[in-house]
Amino acid sequence: MTSRRKFIQIAPVCGAALIAGRNAFAADPPMVDEKDAQAAALGYVADAAKVDKAKFKNFVAGQNCSNCQLYVSKNANAGTCGLFPGKYVAGKGWCSAYAKKA
Ligand code: SF4
Repeated sequence: MTSRRKFIQIAPVCGAALIAGRNAFAADPPMVDEKDAQAAALGYVADAAKVDKAKFKNFVAGQNCSNCQLYVSKNANAGTCGLFPGKYVAGKGWCSAYAKKA
């Protein structure tokens, strides 16, 4: 009787600890490097303020990854983009494939 009661008291704590432990080991993927071949081909920059406006005339101030259709926010500063699988792009980033979020 005592051990059953003890188990009922301990089980939720153990479950919470396991979940917390799993999250502690879940590392974010690396950020896209502007020098990666795909990034360079698309003119990706981690800071939209640094877009080469002479080269990318389609850039409009205010555009950045966080308001792009392909962006899925994962934290305050980064998210995923289908063009860069396995990596994060910066929320403040930009590339020439930008498409305004609907
Ligand atoms: Fe950022 Fe959109 Fe380009 Fe992806 S497609 S890198 S979210 S601007």
